[in-house]
Amino acid sequence: MAEVLVVVEHSGGEVKKVTLEMLTLARELGTPAAVVLGGPGVAAPLTEKLGEFGAATVYAAESEDLDGFLVAPKAAVLAGLVRSVQPAAVLLGSTQEGKEIAGRLAVKLDNGLLTDVSGLDADGVATQVVFAGSTIVKSRVTRGLPLVTVRPNSLTPTPAPASVRVSAVDVVVEQSAKLARVLERKVEPKGARPELTEASVVVSGGRGVGSGDNFKLVEELADLLGGAVGASRAAVDSGFYPHQFQVGQTGKTVSPQLYVALGISGAIQHRAGMQTSKTIVAVNKDAEAPIFELADYGVVGDLFKVVPQATEEIRKR
Ligand code: FAD
Repeated sequence: MAEVLVVVEHSGGEVKKVTLEMLTLARELGTPAAVVLGGPGVAAPLTEKLGEFGAATVYAAESEDLDGFLVAPKAAVLAGLVRSVQPAAVLLGSTQEGKEIAGRLAVKLDNGLLTDVSGLDADGVATQVVFAGSTIVKSRVTRGLPLVTVRPNSLTPTPAPASVRVSAVDVVVEQSAKLARVLERKVEPKGARPELTEASVVVSGGRGVGSGDNFKLVEELADLLGGAVGASRAAVDSGFYPHQFQVGQTGKTVSPQLYVALGISGAIQHRAGMQTSKTIVAVNKDAEAPIFELADYGVVGDLFKVVPQATEEIRKR
């Protein structure tokens, strides 16, 4: 079976969940092979985990050039690997970096590209949610191999241990790919909560939450459920919560097992970022709020009464 290249998303020596999802998907399409791009020594701490999820090969592309510059060198190295391995497909995470590498790779290979894919079958037919979530389309790359970016939280990662072989990739990066150097990295302090795009539970607050202080209610519920906190754009624009937590068309896309919307009307731009959540619970005092068209469970009521009651009940369990 031909290899399916999975470009590994990692941070701080850990494999990100979207990579495990991609490996799970890759097993349906061929033999998964993980590609780790980064500075010297980056692949070793990741290899065991990648093997646990079925990577038969880990291509380790390690060089200061891959760490010290923006994504252009990564796209260049990946293009060389694709040309030599001739994989059945290439999967990248639908993240900021994954999408940028994918775009550059598509140009280099003169290949079609599908982004934000939530499913891909063995014939290369991909499922995408488009137009701010109003339409689901089936698409196929018609020029070249299936080159796709996979939306985080689209599928449940399942382990399938494989004995993994590590193959070092020669990294030669042309000067023309080294035009933007990384000067400084500021890592956001990792809080106790899971990362928004990877969380299996997200509790979001909207304008109805009323103030930044009131977001404590949202945080409390999220913490009890082991989830992340999200916010609508109206809540962010009102200064209730920082922008990095915005969910929606111009924010993050989430697809958790459980999404709880508190005081959020359910505008199409918000839905674009959360409507593929598996179960949606909404609390809104307006019974006509559009979020109820989408919700699996809806409570018409004042969130300042409903949320403390829910929190108290959950705490008892
Ligand atoms: P509102 O629409 O004001 O809704 C507040 C809700 O809270 C109401 O339904 C109200 O009934 C309810 N409520 C009030 N008080 C209570 C209470 N005490 N208890 C219970 N319920 C209560 N929006 C996003 O969220 N994400 C995006 O990424 C995004 N991108 C956009 C991009 C573009 C180009 C544009 C034009 C808009 C975008 N928006 C986005 C904005 C979007 O159109 C909406 O304006 C926004 O989602 C509304 O946020 P909201 O639901 O919190 O506020």
